[in-house]
Amino acid sequence: MKYFSLNDKNHKVSFENAVVKGLAPGKALYFPEEIPVLSKEFFQSLDKLSKEEIAYKAIKTFVGNEIDENGLRSILSKTLDFDFPVVPISENTGTLELFHGPTLAFKDVGAEFMAGCLGYFVKKGNLGKITVLVATSGDTGGAVANGFLGVEGIDVVILYPKGKVSEIQEKQLTTLGQNITALEVNGNFDDCQDMVKKAFSDEEISVKRPLTSANSINVARWLPQMFYYFFAYKQLAGKDNKLAFSVPSGNFGNICAGMLAKKMGLPIAHFIAANNENNVVTRYLQSREYAPKPSVQTISNAMNVGNPSNFVRILELFENKFDSLSQQLSSFSYSDNETRKAIKEVKQKYDYVMDPHGAVGYLGLQEFLAENPEYYGVFLETAHPVKFLETVEGVIEEKVEIPASISAVMQKEKKSIEISNYDELKEYLMQ
Ligand SMILES: *Cc1c(COP(=O)(O)O)cnc(C)c1O
Repeated sequence: MKYFSLNDKNHKVSFENAVVKGLAPGKALYFPEEIPVLSKEFFQSLDKLSKEEIAYKAIKTFVGNEIDENGLRSILSKTLDFDFPVVPISENTGTLELFHGPTLAFKDVGAEFMAGCLGYFVKKGNLGKITVLVATSGDTGGAVANGFLGVEGIDVVILYPKGKVSEIQEKQLTTLGQNITALEVNGNFDDCQDMVKKAFSDEEISVKRPLTSANSINVARWLPQMFYYFFAYKQLAGKDNKLAFSVPSGNFGNICAGMLAKKMGLPIAHFIAANNENNVVTRYLQSREYAPKPSVQTISNAMNVGNPSNFVRILELFENKFDSLSQQLSSFSYSDNETRKAIKEVKQKYDYVMDPHGAVGYLGLQEFLAENPEYYGVFLETAHPVKFLETVEGVIEEKVEIPASISAVMQKEKKSIEISNYDELKEYLMQ
């Protein structure tokens, strides 16, 4: 399979190249040249297949022969080593829990799969040693650290803003050791992001120490997210209703992977992009005008994105046709107060504890179902509520049980290197 640049359809690269490079020239995104449509028999037999088998059949064309069958299967079995349950909430609503992975957020799947692919390419070939450099505002750092831990030939350097990530998030990215280094930046997330960008365009660094990024623009982080929708469908077999998925969205990688799954034949009737007040897509569907704005802080902080990078991939899936896109996609946006109210209401009514991101997804789904009662709706729970402990406990006025994996990480000793400016980052990378 080849991937083309969304800025220049004549610029095509292999899967390996798209993974190693991350971005096409001019900071453009890569997109698969073809989207395979899977057979009716495959969808009918889904309930008899294991999740590894489903994932293998769904992704093999995208990988092509660049990773052999054994290699790909072993990457998938490591990536999918936990459950993806759909938990019923009410008569017409369920939630797909994506937080049973090692760092309790859905980014584990993409990070683990990318680590597997990059590790495979480094081992096989002539890439030499690679450094993954990534800035995090919270969840990405832990997922990437965990995914790449111990992968030979790859070093990971994570920049995070001092004092601006939660205690759990900080422990998840500072306690692993081995090939993972955490740089604690005296500044905010934008400072971290700026330093990373500067390092990518610094030739002295790239000669001495080849860098790659691990955020959701990388095809190896984006594509495996389609699995969630196949796994949910498998569990919903037998529901006669049309299916709608509500996805709490920030950079729009997850929902875009769901729409890709639909294009491959998965019978999903409708998508809802649920936003917090960073609502460029909600406004776009209302006005046909795409007007990004600087991001604002909210309690669903992984969705504080003013200009979602993956939205161009959604437009490409719909060949830039507004009308066909708007038939399959609705979008709603909610304030922090509405989000808190939803967490409280669902706990009281259904005894289910949502995190703030899942709560935004829930709200979007309910608004859609109110107008479209013939659907069965699934909202994605993208993080465990424990990751947003203060917010959630404050709202439900109860303690949230801390999973054993988190208690273990909280006991470990934090190790980080403090830096304050770009020169210190460069010095670290060049040593
Ligand atoms: C990253 C993240 C999101 C947003 O996902 P996108 O693919 O960027 O739209 C939502 N919820 C949580 C908890 C996340 O970590």
